[in-house]
Amino acid sequence: MTHVAATLTWPRVQSLAESGAVALLPVGSTEAHGPHLPLNVDVVIAEEVCRRVATRLAARHLDTVIFPAVPYGLTDFAASFAGTVSLSADTTRGLLSGVLEGIAAHGFKRIAVINHHLEPAHFAVVHEAAKLAREKTRAVIVVPDHRKKPHGPRLGDEFTKGGSHAGFYETSLMLAAAPQLVDDSARRVLPELAVDLPAKIKAGARNFHECGGTSAYFGAPAAATADDGHRLLDILAEISEAALMEAST
Ligand SMILES: [Zn+2]
Repeated sequence: MTHVAATLTWPRVQSLAESGAVALLPVGSTEAHGPHLPLNVDVVIAEEVCRRVATRLAARHLDTVIFPAVPYGLTDFAASFAGTVSLSADTTRGLLSGVLEGIAAHGFKRIAVINHHLEPAHFAVVHEAAKLAREKTRAVIVVPDHRKKPHGPRLGDEFTKGGSHAGFYETSLMLAAAPQLVDDSARRVLPELAVDLPAKIKAGARNFHECGGTSAYFGAPAAATADDGHRLLDILAEISEAALMEAST
């Protein structure tokens, strides 16, 4: 069964931890996502993936406890857009490892960090934080990484080509997870902006402007659909479920 940590009493959390429940920690960012999506896209996606992972684990008779999301991270690429809040790598690492150690301290033996802010420097820090927390606790801490092979191609062309910021991929996920948060009239008129973000970053770009994204989106938001979003969310949940199961054996 799926449990939402923030709504539970401490004795209930204690008994769930003792009975082997899996803890899920959604991680996102507070970051500009084009003129058609809100700042909390990565949090919304991470939380929805957690709910779907929890449903899949319930079918395996595993309880899950979804912890409150971490809504801030390292978000340098969008830092010049209003509303974006970027923490340093050190602060992000300390925040995440502290949260993970806190969860593990009360007996959760399996924890998955479900991160959906894909800025390379941020994702690297998520992996580092999990490593630090692993060294200090006895918990199995999994960081499913859907950018890695063989997952990327399953998430579509735009994702593989590195243009997946507020484009077809993320906008579809949002149309499925929280359609009320998508400004549909703004989205429908956005021209496609095909940019390989990882290639630009490797070539030295330091922000979205230098990558050619002056409205903080890339890819093809106008082509997004809710059906694609549901399909992608299920793939993301399956990737995380598989990572957890693999780490548990
Ligand atoms: Zn995002």
